[in-house]
Amino acid sequence: MKNIATKCVQAGYKPKNGEPRVAPIVQSTTFYYETPEEMGDLFDLKKPGYFYTRLGNPTLGFLEEKMAALEGGVGAMATASGMSATLLAILNLAESGDNFLSMSTLYGGTYNLFNVTLRKLGVNCRFFGEDATETEIEALIDDKTRLIFLESLANPAMIVADFQKIKKIAQKHNIVVMVDNTLPTPIICRPFEHGANVIVHASTKYLDGHATSVGGIIIDDGKFPYLGNPRYPRFNEPDSSYHGMVFARDVGPAAFITRARGIGMRDFGAQMAPMNAWLTNLGIETLHLRIARHSANALSVARALKENPAIEWVKYAGLPSDKYYDRVQKYFDGGMASGMVTFGIKGGRDAAMKFQKALRLFAIVTHIADSRSCVLHPASTTHRQLSASDLQAAGVADNLIRLSVGIEGESDILEDVLNALKVSQE
Ligand SMILES: *Cc1c(COP(=O)(O)O)cnc(C)c1O
Repeated sequence: MKNIATKCVQAGYKPKNGEPRVAPIVQSTTFYYETPEEMGDLFDLKKPGYFYTRLGNPTLGFLEEKMAALEGGVGAMATASGMSATLLAILNLAESGDNFLSMSTLYGGTYNLFNVTLRKLGVNCRFFGEDATETEIEALIDDKTRLIFLESLANPAMIVADFQKIKKIAQKHNIVVMVDNTLPTPIICRPFEHGANVIVHASTKYLDGHATSVGGIIIDDGKFPYLGNPRYPRFNEPDSSYHGMVFARDVGPAAFITRARGIGMRDFGAQMAPMNAWLTNLGIETLHLRIARHSANALSVARALKENPAIEWVKYAGLPSDKYYDRVQKYFDGGMASGMVTFGIKGGRDAAMKFQKALRLFAIVTHIADSRSCVLHPASTTHRQLSASDLQAAGVADNLIRLSVGIEGESDILEDVLNALKVSQE
C-alpha cells in the first residue's frame, strides 16, 4: 500500500474471516480477560491489547493506525480535541522550568495556550517571527529548550512553513521539531519528510471533514534519537510512576508515543470517544478526494478575488503571486494549498458586515475545513475582545475575512462570493 489514496481508504482496520467489513464502534469502557496474569502483562506493556478505553480502544486504534500510515510514522494517539493533542505532545517533552520555541503565527487557541496557560505551569514559550533568521532563532535556544513548534500552513496567517531553515537548526542542536499539520493534512504535506519528529492535528477540521466530531491526533516519526540525549532527561531516567521504566532504552523507536499514552493520557485523560473516532475514520476515507476539490475551488475563489475591485489584498499560497508560492512548490503536493483563503475587503468593518449578510451559500460559523463553505470575520467574532492596536499586533486587520471554501460546485461558490462583494460596496 504505497499510494496515499489507497491508505485513506484501506489503512488501519483489517477484518478477519467473518468479521464486519466496516470498522466496528467499540462502545465499551473496559475489556475482559480470563486470567489476572494476562491483565497484569497488559499493564506492564509486555503485551499489546486493550484493557481500559482511556489508554486505548480498538476503534481509536484503527484511526491511529491509519493516521500513522498516512503521515509515515511509527505510531499515533487520538485525543479529545486538537488542543489536547498539542497540550499532551508538549507536556511529553517539557515540564516546569523548561522552555520551547514557537513560530508566533499560530491558531488563536494554540497562541493562548503557549502565551498564557503553559507559562502559568512554568513551561515558557519563546516566540519567533516568520522572517526570523537562523541566528536569531538559535539565540533563543538553551539547554532547557525541548522543542520547536510550527504550523505547516499557519491558520489564519496563511504562511507556509520554512521547513528547511527549522530542520537545519533542530539538527544542529538535537531538538525535536513538532508540526501542526491540520490545514494541509497528509494529502498535501507530510512534515516527517521535511524534518519534523512529531505531528499534531485537529482532526476536527479536514480529517473528519463533515463538522461532526471535535478531536485530535499525535503522530510519532519514531526516528528522533532520545536515547542518551541530555535534552530529554525524562526519556533517559527511570520513571517513578511507571515502575522504573526508562522510555528511550526500554521502548526504542516508539518511545515518544508510548510515553505520551503511558504517562500523558494515563494522567490527563483527554481521550477521544469511540463514536468520534469512527466518524473521523469514515471521513478520512474520502480525504484525498475532498482535499483536491477544496484546493481547486479555493484557487478559483482566490483568483476571482485578486481581480475584484472590492478587495484590497488576498492571501492564498496557491496563487503564483503569493509570497509563499515557492514553498508550495517545494513542500506541498500537486500545487494544492487547502480550502482556506483570507482577504481584506474595501470599506473596512462595515463592508465586511454587508458582505457576510449578502452571502447565501457560505454560512457564518466558527469553524473551518468541512465540506460546506463558510465565512468568518475575526475582528467581530473570535478576536472581538481585542483593541484596535491588539488586532494589529495579532495580524488581524479590521477588514480581514476568512473563507473556508467547501466542496460544492465551483460556479455556485463563485457566484455567491462575487454577488456578496458587489453588495458590500453598495
Ligand atoms: C482548530 C485548530 C486547532 C484546535 O483544534 P480543536 O479541535 O478545536 O481543539 C489547532 N490547530 C489548528 C491549526 C486549528 O485549525
